[in-house]
Amino acid sequence: MTTTDNTLFLRLAGPMQSWGTSSRFQLRRTDAYPSKSGVLGLLLCAMGVRREETEEVLPPLTTLRMGVRVDRAGTLDWDYHTAGARIGIRRADGKIKRTASTGEYETLVSRRQYLYDASFLVALLGAPETISACVQALSDPVWPVFLGRKCCVPAEPVFAGTGAHATLTDALSSVPWRPRIDVIDRTDRSATRTIATFIEHQPGTPAPADARLVYDVHRVFGFNSHGPRWVVAGHITVPVGQSMHKRLGSPWTDPYGPQYDAARPIRLNMDNHLCVFCKSPAVQMHHLDYADVRPETLRSLCEMCHDACTMLEYGHNMRLKRIDPSDPAHRPTILRQIDRLLRERRHGRRRELRASARTVGAAFFDEVSDSSAVECH
Ligand SMILES: [Zn+2]
Repeated sequence: MTTTDNTLFLRLAGPMQSWGTSSRFQLRRTDAYPSKSGVLGLLLCAMGVRREETEEVLPPLTTLRMGVRVDRAGTLDWDYHTAGARIGIRRADGKIKRTASTGEYETLVSRRQYLYDASFLVALLGAPETISACVQALSDPVWPVFLGRKCCVPAEPVFAGTGAHATLTDALSSVPWRPRIDVIDRTDRSATRTIATFIEHQPGTPAPADARLVYDVHRVFGFNSHGPRWVVAGHITVPVGQSMHKRLGSPWTDPYGPQYDAARPIRLNMDNHLCVFCKSPAVQMHHLDYADVRPETLRSLCEMCHDACTMLEYGHNMRLKRIDPSDPAHRPTILRQIDRLLRERRHGRRRELRASARTVGAAFFDEVSDSSAVECH
């Protein structure tokens, strides 16, 4: 970074995130995007600042204005959570909670909400010296950083660069949106993408009519005392960049890109639309080399033979170079794997049938009791 960089970018992506600003007691919700208190908490963790030491460090951090870009919204769901079983949880009066019937330590049950599989780009804009301190902390964090709650581990480095920008909208528009290699929509070849943003309004100027008041700026860290800020929801259009694997410098190329689209029909014709292993109709395409996608490095397969090859590859922890199902040397191994698959699927199918029989049975009894209840009236 240069000394004039006034913007810090953070990538907040992971299997679970939780950014609660309205949590009360046993019901702990998350907002749909990172809160300022959560993001500042993350930075304080990286700096290794204890709760009681925040008085000096916090004020410059709260002056940073925050913008959030929702690169992947994720899904919202609840988790059933227990705490304090056999160790005792203190009540507000300081006494340990016990059950009324047995007098044993009571387990605290809470419901906690999480955002699963979301990805956000956060920009913090402010004084270059504050940005520089944050960068230093993130590149060598004192304590582990987390996405809202300690159980929410980042899936990739949180520090995503710095820049010099006049506004948060400019900053968030400057970073291309990255598709994820495992969920690429191959039919979508758009060069730009329109993404939702939540941008903190500049204090001291009149807030627009559609601005929302959010109470998530710490007054004193560690206490439930939060000041307000205005947040404006909007959309920006950004260029579509390279997928995550490319950006991280992995040897993986996009195995399903335009090269694959061109090579697939040629390979299917070469194999007469039949599985190269068992001659059933081919429905899938197998890569021999993920770094080199051409008709010569693809093989047409049926679903069963493809599953067997893929499972063998996982078992051998193969990366770019894969099994060639048309190579006679692999034939006995692939046959054994298909045999194993068939046996497992038969067991699985039986379990499925038993489970569905139970559900049908239960629904039947529900109906019987419902209709008898109606008759009683
Ligand atoms: Zn086959």
